[in-house]
Amino acid sequence: MAGCLHILDNLPEISEKLKSREKVLLGMDHDGTLAEIITTLVDSRMTESMRNILYSLSQNPRIHLVIISGRTLESLKEVVNIKSNNIFYAGNHGFEIEGGGTSYTFDDKEALEKINVITEEMCGQLSKVEGMVFEKKIFTTSFIFSTVEPEKQESVRSEILESLQKYQGIRIVEGKKLFNIRPMVNINKGVALETVGRHFYKDEWRNRVTAIYLGDDNSDEDAFKTLEDKDIGVIVNENPPETTNAGYYAKNVKEIEDFLRWLDEK
Ligand SMILES: [Mg+2]
Repeated sequence: MAGCLHILDNLPEISEKLKSREKVLLGMDHDGTLAEIITTLVDSRMTESMRNILYSLSQNPRIHLVIISGRTLESLKEVVNIKSNNIFYAGNHGFEIEGGGTSYTFDDKEALEKINVITEEMCGQLSKVEGMVFEKKIFTTSFIFSTVEPEKQESVRSEILESLQKYQGIRIVEGKKLFNIRPMVNINKGVALETVGRHFYKDEWRNRVTAIYLGDDNSDEDAFKTLEDKDIGVIVNENPPETTNAGYYAKNVKEIEDFLRWLDEK
């Protein structure tokens, strides 16, 4: 969206949006949004002050929280490490969701076997590339090349993309120096946000909540895209791309923390 607005400079407008619905559905990516990315995604951890704010928000009866990540559900719960009945966790971009005493898991065995076979073939081919990281997450796989020597990254990127494009029936999503492959089905971060909304309010969910979504990467655009005018999409990027579907931006993780603190104190 051209003319993405700075979130902290537009809090009065955000206040008005929040007043328009009785509840808030707060969806958040983890890596690069709640936690700084340190070298590899695997190492990112949120600060204690961020964790305290999230915990405090989870005690607010007006707000439903969902953290939606490319990590596995297990890894996501481990790094967030907040015990609260009011936090949903969506791992693998929404292929596995847990919270509110229930869970939603994608279980098309044929589609998962296809991801498995492609993953094995790609790992065999790329094993010679020094520094490559393979994240095999059952439902999806990430091929991470941020850890490859900088001058080789562009050629490794091309090699991965070319090889992946030979396969039919998978979705390829490019992230920050990584490619993620998934079954070709309609599951993504936007659908995950909707799943949690429907969990609480069925078909009424859009009328009942102001949805907020915070994210920093390509896969988060699937969630920004589902938002309506009354909702609030925030991309974490100092120079938000013209192509983003988010209406607002925060410069960094610290500004996301400031925004969440403001929301908590409202
Ligand atoms: Mg991210």
